[in-house]
Amino acid sequence: MSGCPCGLGEYESCCEPLHKGQQAAITAEQLMRSRYSAFARQQIDYIQSTTALGQQQALDIPAIRDWSVSNQWLQLDIVQANEKLDKSHALVEFKAHFHDGKQVQVHHEVSHFVKQAGRWYFLDPTLEQTLTMKQPCICGSGKKLKQCCEQFL
Ligand code: ZN
Ligand code: ZN
Repeated sequence: MSGCPCGLGEYESCCEPLHKGQQAAITAEQLMRSRYSAFARQQIDYIQSTTALGQQQALDIPAIRDWSVSNQWLQLDIVQANEKLDKSHALVEFKAHFHDGKQVQVHHEVSHFVKQAGRWYFLDPTLEQTLTMKQPCICGSGKKLKQCCEQFL
């Protein structure tokens, strides 16, 4: 048994079942926690599979793996979570504390999440993708991008 990186309990009963695909996150906050734990546990496949469907192919997996491995993940603080921005979008503000080998760093971010077919996905605002407003949304909703996730990117 060991403490879950996200701070909520034992890893085996907290984020591990999500990492193994035995459970899906019920809330955006839970997905956020499990993604933080995935960085701490080098569960890179999980980072990829919980990013918006239309963004997964654009992720730089070696860079994510490097980021995951090169830092020591110390603590996650959830500042606030708004699970209902609208019917399918949520916001989680958090602080991730990590040691980069030289000093402790705090990464403070407001992340957005989209629910698609009953599952939560992270919307990555940093990806270099060529998107048009009229294309189908990256979340897989079937709506146009501008009518769906564009405002949250
Ligand atoms: Zn956890
Ligand atoms: Zn969308």
